[in-house]
Parts: sequence; C-alpha cells; structure tokens
Amino acid sequence: MKITLLGTGTSQGIPVPMCACKVCTSTDLRDKRLRCSALVETNGLSILIDTSIDFRQQMLRAGVKRIDAVLLTHHHFDHLFGLDDIRAYSTAQQQFINLYTCPESEQEVLARFGYAFEKPDNLKYGLPALKMNVVREPFKLHDLLEVVPVEVGHGKLNIYGWRIGNFAYLTDCKTIPEPSYALLKNLDVLVIDCLRYTAHPTHASLPETLAYIERIQPKRAYLIHMSHEVMHTELESKLPDHIRVGYDMMEIVVD
Ligand SMILES: [Zn+2]
Ligand SMILES: [Zn+2]
Ligand SMILES: [Zn+2]
Repeated sequence: MKITLLGTGTSQGIPVPMCACKVCTSTDLRDKRLRCSALVETNGLSILIDTSIDFRQQMLRAGVKRIDAVLLTHHHFDHLFGLDDIRAYSTAQQQFINLYTCPESEQEVLARFGYAFEKPDNLKYGLPALKMNVVREPFKLHDLLEVVPVEVGHGKLNIYGWRIGNFAYLTDCKTIPEPSYALLKNLDVLVIDCLRYTAHPTHASLPETLAYIERIQPKRAYLIHMSHEVMHTELESKLPDHIRVGYDMMEIVVD
C-alpha cells in the first residue's frame, strides 16, 4: 500500500495570503502546504481521502490517473469543496464514483452538491457523477478491501477517520472516543492532526497529538493539518524518530 499526502496544511493553506511570518515566507518546500487530502493506492484501487479545496491542483501535481472511491472525513470546506472537479474522473471513467461519508456530513454534502449524486445524465454531460454511501460500520470496498470508519471528535461534530489495513488517517480530531481506540490497534502507520503547539477548541495540538500517539502505539506516525505556527524543521527536530512531520507529496509505504 502506498499513501501520498496530497496536502498537509490547515484550512487556510500555507503560505497564508498577506502573512509575512517566517513559515509563510520559508523557502523550505515542506513549509508549503495545500489543504489536507491523501491518496491511498492498494489492491489495484486508487482511493482518495477528502476532496480538498485544492483538489484540482493536487490531482494534476500528483498525476492521479483514476479515482475508484472517495472517503470523506467531514464536510468542512477545506476537505470537501473540491468535489465538483471530480467530474474529470467520473467522465473519463464513465462511471459513478462512490463517496463514503459519516452520517453527520450527509445532508451538508447533499445541500451543496446534490446535483452530483445519482443523476443518470451526468455521465453523458460531463457533470460530476457520484453515489452517496453513509457509513455506519466497516465495509468492503469493491468486495475486496476492508475499510473501517473510526469516529473522532472535532469540536461539536463527530466525524470519521479511516482505517485501511494497518494504516489509519485521523484528521481534524480534538478527541478520540474510547471505543475508537479498539479500532486503532496494531497500526504500522498513523497519520494524525497536529494543528499547532498550543491548545485549540476543535483540533489536537502537539501535546494532545503526542499523547494519542503514545496511547495508540503505531510503528510510525506522521503529523498533518499544520498551521503557519509550525515550521517543518523546527517541529521535526523535537520529535522522536518514529514520528515525522508530514509534507505535501510525501509518500508513505505500508507493507
Ligand atoms: Zn480541516
Ligand atoms: Zn504566516
Ligand atoms: Zn474540519
């Protein structure tokens, strides 16, 4: 399984327009972060986690040739609003693409993108063609790959992280409910929210992220969704070897 981090920044992206801070003006490419999304390639499937607002740019940059399914974590604009551009893939593939979501996000997705779902003519007219799947338990993708929703707390919202094999992706998580820990055992790779150094009401900050990693005990962990308070080299120098700071276009291989 190969995971490509397509974007690793918080909702504003880095650099932030009009900001002259040392991270926004850094020349280190690892400090340039599009909004969070990841591509998982395994078992011949190409699975996208979130359609970030930078979707189009991310697909072109990573040269993504196919999308078999979208796993949505939640409906906030930074994770969802690139969805319309999936028309390029549904049209090229001439098929409806399955989108999997948590119950909290179903109505929000339909309110904004209802025209994209289950309209038979969309394939013919080049419009986005999607099928809605509200997930309440683990399911088999294309009858061959088990995908496990992992509930996390994001402020007032209960949203999903996703586990595939021994890889899990938890973005925008402030809290991890007790039952979710049972779904996060024996991970080779955990990708997890780490907004900044100080506390935030809806995102894990560094001390919380490190405590989650300590409890979950993955073999390796990668931090994502960083704000412009986080300089790549500065944060990474404070971390043990098995925890790394994610960056855009980082490739992670899981056996
Ligand atoms: Zn976010
Ligand atoms: Zn800045
Ligand atoms: Zn969010």
